[in-house]
Amino acid sequence: MSTLEFRQSSAASLDEVETEHFGAVSVRRRNCPLCDRDNHDIAASPYSHHPWDIKQCPGCRFVYIDRAPVYDLQFSTMAWERTTKIEEERRAKIRPFSYRASKRTGFRKRLLPKRTMLDYTVGRIGGGNVIDLGCGDGHALLGFPSSFIPFGIEISSSLAASAHQAYAERGGYAINAACVDGLRQLPEGFFVAASLRSYLEHDAEPLPVLRELHRVLTPAGFAVVKVPNYGSLNRIVMGRRWCGFRYPDHLNYFAPDTLRAMAASAGFRASFGLSGRIPTSDNMWAVLTKTP
Ligand SMILES: [Zn+2]
Repeated sequence: MSTLEFRQSSAASLDEVETEHFGAVSVRRRNCPLCDRDNHDIAASPYSHHPWDIKQCPGCRFVYIDRAPVYDLQFSTMAWERTTKIEEERRAKIRPFSYRASKRTGFRKRLLPKRTMLDYTVGRIGGGNVIDLGCGDGHALLGFPSSFIPFGIEISSSLAASAHQAYAERGGYAINAACVDGLRQLPEGFFVAASLRSYLEHDAEPLPVLRELHRVLTPAGFAVVKVPNYGSLNRIVMGRRWCGFRYPDHLNYFAPDTLRAMAASAGFRASFGLSGRIPTSDNMWAVLTKTP
Protein backbone atom coordinates (compact mmCIF):
# COMPACT_ATOMS: atom_id res chain seq x y z
CA MET A 1 0.00 0.00 0.00
CA SER A 2 1.43 3.40 -0.87
CA THR A 3 1.63 6.33 1.54
CA LEU A 4 -1.10 8.10 -0.43
CA GLU A 5 -3.49 5.13 -0.19
CA PHE A 6 -2.83 4.90 3.54
CA ARG A 7 -3.78 8.53 4.08
CA GLN A 8 -6.95 8.17 2.02
CA SER A 9 -8.07 5.06 3.85
CA SER A 10 -7.71 6.74 7.24
CA ALA A 11 -9.40 9.99 6.22
CA ALA A 12 -12.82 8.81 7.38
CA SER A 13 -11.73 8.69 11.04
CA LEU A 14 -10.03 12.10 11.10
CA ASP A 15 -10.88 14.48 13.92
CA GLU A 16 -9.59 17.89 14.94
CA VAL A 17 -8.25 19.11 18.29
CA GLU A 18 -7.15 22.54 19.50
CA THR A 19 -3.58 22.59 20.89
CA GLU A 20 -1.54 25.17 22.77
CA HIS A 21 1.45 25.24 20.44
CA PHE A 22 0.15 24.14 17.05
CA GLY A 23 -3.41 25.52 16.85
CA ALA A 24 -5.94 23.13 15.26
CA VAL A 25 -4.36 19.74 14.60
CA SER A 26 -5.86 16.86 12.62
CA VAL A 27 -5.81 13.66 14.60
CA ARG A 28 -6.83 10.07 14.01
CA ARG A 29 -8.56 8.09 16.76
CA ARG A 30 -6.83 4.84 17.67
CA ASN A 31 -8.11 1.59 19.07
CA CYS A 32 -5.75 -0.17 21.50
CA PRO A 33 -2.51 -0.59 19.50
CA LEU A 34 -1.92 -3.99 21.10
CA CYS A 35 -5.32 -5.81 21.10
CA ASP A 36 -7.39 -3.44 18.88
CA ARG A 37 -10.06 -2.95 21.58
CA ASP A 38 -12.18 0.20 21.13
CA ASN A 39 -11.52 2.23 24.32
CA HIS A 40 -12.97 5.58 23.26
CA ASP A 41 -15.60 5.54 26.00
CA ILE A 42 -13.37 4.62 28.95
CA ALA A 43 -12.08 7.33 31.32
CA ALA A 44 -8.77 9.02 30.54
CA SER A 45 -5.83 8.44 32.90
CA PRO A 46 -4.79 11.26 35.30
CA TYR A 47 -1.55 11.38 33.28
CA SER A 48 -3.46 12.90 30.35
CA HIS A 49 -2.48 16.40 29.19
CA HIS A 50 -5.23 18.18 27.27
CA PRO A 51 -6.08 17.43 24.48
CA TRP A 52 -3.99 14.24 24.62
CA ASP A 53 -5.91 11.58 26.56
CA ILE A 54 -3.89 8.66 27.90
CA LYS A 55 -5.88 5.41 28.15
CA GLN A 56 -5.05 2.09 29.78
CA CYS A 57 -6.74 -0.71 27.84
CA PRO A 58 -8.98 -2.77 30.18
CA GLY A 59 -8.43 -5.75 27.89
CA CYS A 60 -4.63 -6.02 27.71
CA ARG A 61 -3.35 -3.21 30.07
CA PHE A 62 -1.52 -1.40 27.27
CA VAL A 63 -1.18 2.38 27.88
CA TYR A 64 -1.41 4.83 24.98
CA ILE A 65 -2.61 8.23 23.73
CA ASP A 66 -5.83 7.49 21.89
CA ARG A 67 -5.53 10.22 19.25
CA ALA A 68 -2.50 10.48 16.98
CA PRO A 69 -1.57 13.51 14.84
CA VAL A 70 -1.86 12.60 11.16
CA TYR A 71 1.41 11.88 9.40
CA ASP A 72 1.16 14.85 7.02
CA LEU A 73 1.53 17.18 9.98
CA GLN A 74 4.50 15.31 11.36
CA PHE A 75 6.26 15.99 8.08
CA SER A 76 6.02 19.71 8.78
CA THR A 77 4.85 21.51 11.93
CA MET A 78 4.76 18.47 14.19
CA ALA A 79 8.32 17.42 13.31
CA TRP A 80 9.95 15.78 16.28
CA GLU A 81 12.85 18.24 16.32
CA ARG A 82 10.40 20.96 17.24
CA THR A 83 8.18 19.17 19.75
CA THR A 84 11.27 18.00 21.61
CA LYS A 85 12.14 21.62 22.38
CA ILE A 86 8.58 22.46 23.45
CA GLU A 87 8.48 19.41 25.74
CA GLU A 88 11.76 20.44 27.36
CA GLU A 89 10.28 23.85 28.09
CA ARG A 90 7.07 22.33 29.50
CA ARG A 91 9.04 20.09 31.82
CA ALA A 92 11.37 22.91 32.88
CA LYS A 93 8.27 24.85 33.94
CA ILE A 94 6.64 22.14 36.04
CA ARG A 95 9.74 20.85 37.83
CA PRO A 96 12.37 23.56 37.73
CA PHE A 97 14.65 22.12 40.39
CA SER A 98 14.82 18.46 39.38
CA TYR A 99 14.96 19.39 35.70
CA ARG A 100 18.01 21.60 36.20
CA ALA A 101 19.61 19.02 38.45
CA SER A 102 19.16 16.24 35.93
CA LYS A 103 20.50 18.45 33.12
CA ARG A 104 23.56 19.24 35.23
CA THR A 105 24.50 15.81 36.51
CA GLY A 106 23.08 13.26 34.08
CA PHE A 107 23.01 11.17 37.22
CA ARG A 108 20.56 8.47 36.22
CA LYS A 109 22.29 7.87 32.90
CA ARG A 110 25.50 6.86 34.62
CA LEU A 111 23.77 4.16 36.64
CA LEU A 112 23.07 2.25 33.45
CA PRO A 113 25.45 -0.11 31.71
CA LYS A 114 26.38 1.12 28.24
CA ARG A 115 24.40 -1.04 25.84
CA THR A 116 24.16 0.21 22.34
CA MET A 117 23.01 -1.23 19.05
CA LEU A 118 26.63 -1.10 17.86
CA ASP A 119 28.05 -3.09 20.81
CA TYR A 120 25.35 -5.68 20.57
CA THR A 121 25.40 -6.17 16.79
CA VAL A 122 29.16 -6.16 16.21
CA GLY A 123 29.53 -8.62 19.08
CA ARG A 124 27.33 -11.14 17.24
CA ILE A 125 27.63 -10.79 13.46
CA GLY A 126 30.35 -9.73 11.04
CA GLY A 127 28.34 -7.63 8.62
CA GLY A 128 25.27 -7.24 6.38
CA ASN A 129 22.38 -4.84 5.84
CA VAL A 130 21.24 -3.03 8.98
CA ILE A 131 18.27 -0.67 9.36
CA ASP A 132 17.50 2.11 11.82
CA LEU A 133 13.79 2.92 12.26
CA GLY A 134 13.36 6.62 12.96
CA CYS A 135 16.99 7.09 11.90
CA GLY A 136 17.05 10.88 12.32
CA ASP A 137 20.13 12.28 10.56
CA GLY A 138 21.59 8.78 10.33
CA HIS A 139 24.35 9.14 12.93
CA ALA A 140 23.56 5.98 14.91
CA LEU A 141 24.63 3.55 12.15
CA LEU A 142 27.65 5.48 10.91
CA GLY A 143 29.98 4.12 13.60
CA PHE A 144 29.46 0.55 12.32
CA PRO A 145 32.34 -1.24 10.54
CA SER A 146 32.27 -0.95 6.73
CA SER A 147 31.05 -4.56 6.44
CA PHE A 148 27.63 -3.24 7.56
CA ILE A 149 25.48 -1.40 4.99
CA PRO A 150 23.26 1.23 6.65
CA PHE A 151 19.59 1.83 5.79
CA GLY A 152 17.00 3.94 7.57
CA ILE A 153 13.44 5.26 7.58
CA GLU A 154 12.70 8.75 8.87
CA ILE A 155 9.47 10.78 8.86
CA SER A 156 11.14 14.21 9.05
CA SER A 157 12.07 15.27 5.51
CA SER A 158 15.12 17.33 6.47
CA LEU A 159 16.60 14.62 8.71
CA ALA A 160 15.88 11.88 6.13
CA ALA A 161 17.80 13.88 3.51
CA SER A 162 20.86 14.09 5.80
CA ALA A 163 20.68 10.37 6.57
CA HIS A 164 20.30 9.48 2.90
CA GLN A 165 23.42 11.40 1.97
CA ALA A 166 25.48 9.73 4.70
CA TYR A 167 24.14 6.22 4.01
CA ALA A 168 24.61 6.50 0.22
CA GLU A 169 28.37 6.87 0.73
CA ARG A 170 28.27 3.48 2.47
CA GLY A 171 26.07 1.74 -0.14
CA GLY A 172 22.73 2.10 1.67
CA TYR A 173 19.92 4.64 1.64
CA ALA A 174 17.23 6.33 3.76
CA ILE A 175 13.50 6.44 3.00
CA ASN A 176 11.45 9.52 3.92
CA ALA A 177 8.16 7.98 5.06
CA ALA A 178 6.18 6.71 8.01
CA CYS A 179 7.92 3.48 9.05
CA VAL A 180 5.15 1.08 8.13
CA ASP A 181 5.04 2.53 4.61
CA GLY A 182 8.83 2.60 4.30
CA LEU A 183 9.18 -1.02 5.43
CA ARG A 184 6.62 -2.13 2.82
CA GLN A 185 8.99 -0.86 0.12
CA LEU A 186 11.80 -3.17 1.28
CA PRO A 187 12.43 -6.80 0.26
CA GLU A 188 11.78 -9.83 2.44
CA GLY A 189 14.71 -11.14 4.52
CA PHE A 190 16.91 -8.16 3.58
CA PHE A 191 18.30 -7.17 7.01
CA VAL A 192 20.48 -8.95 9.54
CA ALA A 193 19.69 -6.44 12.29
CA ALA A 194 17.45 -3.49 13.11
CA SER A 195 17.63 -0.63 15.59
CA LEU A 196 14.44 0.70 17.19
CA ARG A 197 16.07 3.09 19.61
CA SER A 198 13.57 5.55 21.13
CA TYR A 199 11.35 4.79 18.18
CA LEU A 200 8.42 2.50 18.98
CA GLU A 201 6.87 4.90 21.52
CA HIS A 202 6.40 7.47 18.71
CA ASP A 203 4.68 5.37 16.06
CA ALA A 204 0.87 5.42 15.73
CA GLU A 205 1.00 1.86 14.34
CA PRO A 206 3.59 -0.02 16.40
CA LEU A 207 2.19 -3.52 15.76
CA PRO A 208 1.99 -3.20 11.94
CA VAL A 209 5.57 -1.82 12.08
CA LEU A 210 6.78 -4.87 14.03
CA ARG A 211 4.99 -7.23 11.62
CA GLU A 212 6.64 -5.58 8.61
CA LEU A 213 9.96 -5.63 10.45
CA HIS A 214 9.54 -9.39 10.94
CA ARG A 215 9.13 -9.76 7.16
CA VAL A 216 12.25 -7.77 6.23
CA LEU A 217 14.58 -9.49 8.74
CA THR A 218 16.48 -12.69 7.89
CA PRO A 219 15.39 -15.81 9.86
CA ALA A 220 18.29 -15.24 12.28
CA GLY A 221 17.87 -11.45 12.23
CA PHE A 222 17.24 -9.47 15.38
CA ALA A 223 16.02 -6.04 16.48
CA VAL A 224 17.40 -4.01 19.39
CA VAL A 225 14.60 -2.02 21.02
CA LYS A 226 14.87 0.83 23.51
CA VAL A 227 11.66 2.43 24.83
CA PRO A 228 10.66 4.36 27.97
CA ASN A 229 9.54 1.91 30.65
CA TYR A 230 6.06 2.85 31.91
CA GLY A 231 6.55 0.19 34.57
CA SER A 232 9.59 1.99 36.02
CA LEU A 233 9.74 3.22 39.60
CA ASN A 234 10.46 6.72 38.32
CA ARG A 235 7.07 6.85 36.58
CA ILE A 236 5.35 5.75 39.78
CA VAL A 237 7.27 8.24 41.97
CA MET A 238 7.30 11.21 39.56
CA GLY A 239 3.72 10.74 38.27
CA ARG A 240 2.80 13.36 35.67
CA ARG A 241 6.30 14.80 35.88
CA TRP A 242 7.95 11.56 34.69
CA CYS A 243 10.29 12.29 31.77
CA GLY A 244 8.69 9.48 29.71
CA PHE A 245 5.51 11.52 29.21
CA ARG A 246 5.73 13.57 26.03
CA TYR A 247 2.53 14.91 24.53
CA PRO A 248 1.85 13.89 21.82
CA ASP A 249 5.30 12.64 20.76
CA HIS A 250 5.11 9.51 22.88
CA LEU A 251 1.93 7.81 21.73
CA ASN A 252 2.68 4.38 23.25
CA TYR A 253 3.70 3.64 26.87
CA PHE A 254 5.24 0.17 27.07
CA ALA A 255 5.91 -1.86 30.20
CA PRO A 256 7.97 -5.07 29.96
CA ASP A 257 4.86 -7.30 29.77
CA THR A 258 3.12 -5.25 27.06
CA LEU A 259 6.31 -4.94 24.98
CA ARG A 260 6.70 -8.72 25.21
CA ALA A 261 3.03 -9.23 24.23
CA MET A 262 3.24 -6.91 21.21
CA ALA A 263 6.49 -8.52 20.07
CA ALA A 264 4.85 -11.97 20.35
CA SER A 265 1.89 -10.78 18.31
CA ALA A 266 4.34 -9.85 15.52
CA GLY A 267 6.18 -13.21 15.69
CA PHE A 268 9.06 -12.15 17.96
CA ARG A 269 10.42 -13.25 21.30
CA ALA A 270 11.56 -10.32 23.48
CA SER A 271 14.60 -10.86 25.74
CA PHE A 272 15.56 -8.27 28.32
CA GLY A 273 18.73 -9.91 29.61
CA LEU A 274 20.10 -9.01 33.04
CA SER A 275 20.13 -5.24 32.62
CA GLY A 276 17.36 -4.53 30.11
CA ARG A 277 14.62 -3.60 32.57
CA ILE A 278 16.09 -2.14 35.73
CA PRO A 279 13.15 -0.66 37.72
CA THR A 280 15.11 2.52 38.57
CA SER A 281 15.80 3.29 34.90
CA ASP A 282 13.39 5.38 32.83
CA ASN A 283 14.06 3.17 29.81
CA MET A 284 14.22 -0.50 28.97
CA TRP A 285 16.14 -2.46 26.35
CA ALA A 286 15.03 -5.67 24.65
CA VAL A 287 16.36 -7.82 21.84
CA LEU A 288 13.66 -9.26 19.55
CA THR A 289 14.37 -12.51 17.74
CA LYS A 290 12.03 -14.43 15.48
CA THR A 291 9.93 -17.08 17.20
CA PRO A 292 10.87 -20.48 15.68
ZN1 LIG B 1 -5.66 -3.65 24.52
